[in-house]
Amino acid sequence: MPSYQAPIRDLRFVYHELLDADRTLSVLPGFEETSPELVDAILEEGAKLFEQVIHPLNQSGDMQGCSFQSGEVTTPEGFRDAYRAYTEGGWCSLAADPELGGQGLPETISFMLEEMLTSANVSFSLYPGLTRGAISAINLHADDALKARYLPKMVEGVWSGTMCLTESQAGSDLGLVRTRATPRADGSYSITGTKIFITGGEQDLTQNIIHLVLARLPDAPPGVRGISLFLVPKFLPDDNNEPAHRNGVSCGSIEQKMGIKASSTCVINFDNAQGFLVGPENRGLACMFTMMNAERLAIGIQGLGLGEIAYQNAVAYARERLQGRAASGSTAVEPNADPLLVHPDIRRMLLTARAYNEGARAVAVWTATNIDLSHRHPDAARRSEAEDMVALITPVIKACFSDLGYETATHCQQVLGGHGYIREWGMEQFVRDARIAQIYEGTNGVQALDLVRRKLFIHGGRLPSRFFQLLADYAAQQRENQPLQPYLTPFIEALELLRELTEWVVQQGTADPDQLGAAATDYLRIFALTTFAWMWVRMIAVSLDKLDQGEGDAGFYRTKIQTGRFFLGRLLPQVQGLNLAVRSGSALLMEMREADF
Ligand SMILES: Cc1cc2nc3c(=O)[nH]c(=O)nc-3n(C[C@H](O)[C@H](O)[C@H](O)COP(=O)(O)OP(=O)(O)OC[C@H]3O[C@@H](n4cnc5c(N)ncnc54)[C@H](O)[C@@H]3O)c2cc1C
Repeated sequence: MPSYQAPIRDLRFVYHELLDADRTLSVLPGFEETSPELVDAILEEGAKLFEQVIHPLNQSGDMQGCSFQSGEVTTPEGFRDAYRAYTEGGWCSLAADPELGGQGLPETISFMLEEMLTSANVSFSLYPGLTRGAISAINLHADDALKARYLPKMVEGVWSGTMCLTESQAGSDLGLVRTRATPRADGSYSITGTKIFITGGEQDLTQNIIHLVLARLPDAPPGVRGISLFLVPKFLPDDNNEPAHRNGVSCGSIEQKMGIKASSTCVINFDNAQGFLVGPENRGLACMFTMMNAERLAIGIQGLGLGEIAYQNAVAYARERLQGRAASGSTAVEPNADPLLVHPDIRRMLLTARAYNEGARAVAVWTATNIDLSHRHPDAARRSEAEDMVALITPVIKACFSDLGYETATHCQQVLGGHGYIREWGMEQFVRDARIAQIYEGTNGVQALDLVRRKLFIHGGRLPSRFFQLLADYAAQQRENQPLQPYLTPFIEALELLRELTEWVVQQGTADPDQLGAAATDYLRIFALTTFAWMWVRMIAVSLDKLDQGEGDAGFYRTKIQTGRFFLGRLLPQVQGLNLAVRSGSALLMEMREADF
């Protein structure tokens, strides 16, 4: 049976030492009390709950799955109690506004806990995860009456939230949504239509479920400009805000699927259900993007969480399992065989996993600090810069982290050989659970298009130019740092390659839109690898300093430097091949006639 130990030391390294988040965040209004001791205590308390209560339900939850009978969904055994422990401990509402019952802590802390929760149990994490996204959309776009009525119970976690976008004919293309909204005399709306694939659309964990639904008003313009957003509760609350009257919302069935089996994926029917408009008419997609962007980041973190737990279990196995002799001569006391860990190919897989996980963790926490800065920094220019960073990096995190989560889980499964394929060891579940993150919340193909078609172009290319400047400024600051030079050089080369390629993609794409589609996925990976390289050089710089000053845990810093060297020497060179692939252009893809496929 697999096990999980939260990577507290590494999270603390990233938060306190690499990003100096104590200083960056504690100057923001509302975060004055967020001391380093408080951050550490929260991480440790969260780790206990996730390791001891929520992780033990991961494998049993996968085996049992959710069940469906007469419109009701039952989650696997133990989920209700664990969810109660999670909400009663206040874990739902860490970053929520204190006026709504939240704890008003930085998003950055919430991000770090999200990684641990997704490692411990991805299926479980989706129930509160979607609620958090729904809270942010309602908070930003709904009127005061709706907020007062629905948000406190959602923040408490006794009511949950869902995101109802997808219909059978409307997946990536939400302009095809057909669900209808008809105005009622009292100012509310009747919602009619069927949504599919709705995560947590029905479950037995909360007293009420608050659906955020995309629908069309009569005479709405076609396409995405004619979609509005509605809040549709499963139960309409009475005057005391108790869930009193069943609304016209029902669950038609749940899906049987490859992974995340303990998360319910539901067909939800709206049959003249009473709904309430959120935000302006026909601006629903823009409002929903508040939730979708939050979820995209959360799904990226899901890839990281699975990569981390897969790595931990693969390392444990590679230490124990004896097969073959070390090519360079055995040092083991065992008479017949050495542990798997002596073999270069096993090390390649483990180090790949580790270097991606630790790089991704640093990028994730850096992004989260930018979310906090974008919400709270007193200087509007600083807020705008941080907002640009988050907007640019969101599709990169969603797509690259989830791709790496799946790749990493597969590498780690490979370390276990045949045992990796057998249920008992848990690795095949990580692979199955990791796969969905590449698909939902906008497929990774769609994320790559968002990066190249939109994020590279908006505000006259301001987003990438600010980002590249930030990375170039770092390189310039470190020019005199002699011990860092061997690490800085490959990073600077990758940054130059990315800058030149970005110009090429923008130029080519302006003349021929197919060039953007052809470049998108490989370009996104180059962007991600270069961002990881930036973080790795920074992590190495901090570690070299600590070793030089004789501070702290030398073993930790030495391992960090070795892992960083592996990333820069063995993984970063992928940018060269990907660069050639992007520059091969769209003709190689588009010249074949459809009939010849
Ligand atoms: C387990 C699970 C949970 C889910 N949870 C939710 C949820 O809570 N709420 C919700 O609303 N939805 C949910 N979804 C739906 C999910 O977001 C969609 O499945 C996903 O967005 C893709 O839509 P689709 O399946 O219709 O694929 P399609 O849109 O048909 O795409 C098929 C393929 O074509 C590609 N493609 C599509 N359009 C383009 C284009 N213009 N250019 C290039 N390539 C393109 C895609 O990248 C993909 O590879 C869930 C799905 C699953 C499986």
